Formats: sequence, C-alpha cells, structure tokens
Amino acid sequence: MWTALIEHAQQKHRFLDQLCTLCSGEFVGKGGTIHCKRGCSGCCSLNVRCTLTEAVALAPHLNDNQIEAIHLHAEKLKQIDRDNNDLKNFLKASREQVGPCPLLDADGACSVYAYRPLACRALLSTMDPHYCTLDFSTLSSEEKQAFMAQLDQESVNFPTHYLAMPQQIAQAAEMECLEKMKQAFGVTVTGNLPYLLDLELTLKVSEKLAENRRIQELTGNTKSESFLIGVDIP
Ligand code: SF4
Repeated sequence: MWTALIEHAQQKHRFLDQLCTLCSGEFVGKGGTIHCKRGCSGCCSLNVRCTLTEAVALAPHLNDNQIEAIHLHAEKLKQIDRDNNDLKNFLKASREQVGPCPLLDADGACSVYAYRPLACRALLSTMDPHYCTLDFSTLSSEEKQAFMAQLDQESVNFPTHYLAMPQQIAQAAEMECLEKMKQAFGVTVTGNLPYLLDLELTLKVSEKLAENRRIQELTGNTKSESFLIGVDIP
C-alpha cells in the first residue's frame, strides 16, 4: 500500500518542481528576483511540516549520521513541545534551542534534496534570504509596514515574501496525498519532518499503520494539541 502512496507523492513532487520553474521564470520575466540558491538555507530554520507518506519515502535514504542527527533533533523538539502550549512560543523555542533542519549538510545545502517534501519545494523567496530567518515578532510596526511595502502583492503569499502559486499547489497536492492515506488506512497524519522521520526510523510506524494499529498509541504523544503531529481520524 505504501508503494502506491509514495509513487503518488513523488509524482506530486515532480509536478510541483515543474510549476516552480514556470513561476520563477514568470516572476523573473517581469523584473523580480528569486533569491533561493544552493547553500542558502534560511527557510530550513522554519518548522518544516510534511505528510507521513513523505517521511516514509525519505527514511530509507538516510545514512547513520543523518539518523542520529534526526533522533537528537526530535528528542529536543519533543521536550519543547511538552513545555509549550502556545504555537508562537513553541516555534521561538525550537528555532533558538534546536536550530535548523538536521538534514542540512556542512555547506548549508539540503542533503536529501531529491526527497525533500512539498513544503520545502514550494518556498521561493522574492526577497533577500535574511527575511527567511527573521523573527518578525521582533520588528516594530513601522518596520513591518516597510517590509510589506516592498512585496509584490500580485505574486506573493501576502504578507510573506514567498511566491504564492507554488504554495497553493503544494497545499492542494498535500491534501491529495492525505486523501490517499485516508483511503488506505482510515487516518491522515501530518507533522514536523524530523519528528515524523524519527517515528518512522525508531517505531516503523508505516508497518504498524498497515497492521491497523492506532497512531496515538504508537507515538505515546498524549498531549491534546501537539505542535509536532496532526492526526485526523474521519
Ligand atoms: S529537508 Fe532539506 S530543504 Fe527541507 S528543511 Fe531539511 S535541509 Fe531544508
């Protein structure tokens, strides 16, 4: 069952990549600049979310060092998740105390580029990368106004500086992946990328879901609202 789900997700990845190329070309054609390039890892410091299918597809391609880095990262995130009931505080603490995605390599490039999830593929920055790492809650209202005044509102996912169309298509593709998961297992699972990877690597959740075991029991995550995982049982 997972093979079909993974193939479907990979088709969505390829489609999104083509669309990103088209959207970037169009934006550059009308005088804009896409600032993303190899080694620029600003958006990798964000809380990266994905579907469980994407984590299951990526897990077999990790080496021992990556697996260890993911495990350490996930353990720290779990502690921060337990300590915070507010999303803003959770995001701030994860950024300050845990750092960027453990799959970044020493050159600041994605070490799993071919397998990265939709959420990573869809972020195309129309402004300098320092805005990707900026904590906007630290800006004054004048600074926020000045930032927003620079945005091309026809192209971006306002008030962010990321192109809108790739994000819309990625969200639609993610919904389709979740629909497939629901049809296969009667449940949809999304969550933080390193956390879901760690679940798959340590607990083999993909096999256990296929045996109809309940995801909440598998994870042991009893928090009523966890910022690490979203489970929907229709
Ligand atoms: S998977 Fe790759 S692109 Fe995505 S956040 Fe991690 S390092 Fe960055």
